[in-house]
Amino acid sequence: MIASRKLTRSCTVGHLRLGGGAPVVVQSMTNTDTADYLKTAIQCAELARAGSELVRITVNTPEAAAAVPKIREHLDRMNVAVPLIGDFHYNGHRLLTEYPACAEVLAKYRINPGNVGFGKKKDEQFAQMIELACRYDKPVRIGVNWGSLDQDLLGRIMDENNRRTEPLDAGEVMRQAMVSSALESAAKAEELGLPGDHIVLSCKVSSVQDLIAIYRDLARRADFPLHLGLTEAGMGSKGIVASTAALAVLLQEGIGDTIRVSLTPEPNGSRTQEVIVAQEILQTMGLRAFTPMVAACPGCGRTTSTFFQELAGRVQDFVRASMPDWKLKYDGVENMTLAVMGCVVNGPGESKHANIGISLPGTGEAPAAPVFEDGVKTVTLRGDNIAEEFKQLIERYVARTYLPKIHP
Ligand code: SF4
Repeated sequence: MIASRKLTRSCTVGHLRLGGGAPVVVQSMTNTDTADYLKTAIQCAELARAGSELVRITVNTPEAAAAVPKIREHLDRMNVAVPLIGDFHYNGHRLLTEYPACAEVLAKYRINPGNVGFGKKKDEQFAQMIELACRYDKPVRIGVNWGSLDQDLLGRIMDENNRRTEPLDAGEVMRQAMVSSALESAAKAEELGLPGDHIVLSCKVSSVQDLIAIYRDLARRADFPLHLGLTEAGMGSKGIVASTAALAVLLQEGIGDTIRVSLTPEPNGSRTQEVIVAQEILQTMGLRAFTPMVAACPGCGRTTSTFFQELAGRVQDFVRASMPDWKLKYDGVENMTLAVMGCVVNGPGESKHANIGISLPGTGEAPAAPVFEDGVKTVTLRGDNIAEEFKQLIERYVARTYLPKIHP
């Protein structure tokens, strides 16, 4: 059983609510040069259309800051209302001051307390960013990252540790420093006048066990909404598995109000993969429903043809491609389940559990593919056109089963 969500304060970001019992929000980040506003707007739109509910963009130069209002304008023209988050390091105080239109159109500022400045300037520049957040009434994510942990704070915690009779190990010191950096920065922001319901915290590391330990501690010690993510998760299956392993444990414990899966895209791969993975984590855990899920058997020696793998892929792609249209038309279609199974062993059983499922013939079985709808066999498909016919059956099932949406 999933633990009930840890009740945090609620923070409003654009039209969305983070925390306070709201559903866990999916977010992502662009990898375009923000100064190239057209490219960035197009990628923001792609991410939003894939299901990213918040999109973060780096704002690192005057050109990038100047581009932010144009990106917003283009998105609005494309009817993409996704709130934009500005990611600031080192010069955020200057960029937000010198580019008021940028400060105005962003829905949230991400501040990394380890990267706001050096020496005496650090506190000044942090304060300046918080004052700007207050002036523009924007929430702030205090986003600690172990790759850029505040070195003064780490030094202080290491000194304290050295004075202990039983010093903690280096890993524990680092974890404590991460949590302290987030909590102390949040306290400072509140002292400077930022309301507590304008603060979101994150403490990202790249080790699964460290991430779990840090967020458990953070959730125990603060009631700000938490942004979860395993930083630098990596590429391909490693990145997906590591992110899922970490996030699933925390979400299961009711920790986390918004998530990002930081995948390194394959060369020429789509940036939207991180959105799909984040959605799949939430949906397979039963926390949210975004798109109908296709159950498919792994295949084995009982089915030597590749047909069933191809069909499972085509059905998943078809469902995903149909979803933007279905979502507008039908209520609850995202909860639909489908099954594509390879042979008679588990095929009919699994198909009966799905809303609509097909059991393909395994090696040596009669060349027939029974289709089950709501647990009842409705038709048997044969011949070369099974894929297209099954897609038509899905389309008809959706139209028949889900109530038309009423648009005000
Ligand atoms: S359903 Fe059939 S083909 Fe699929 S894994 Fe089970 S036994 Fe193998």
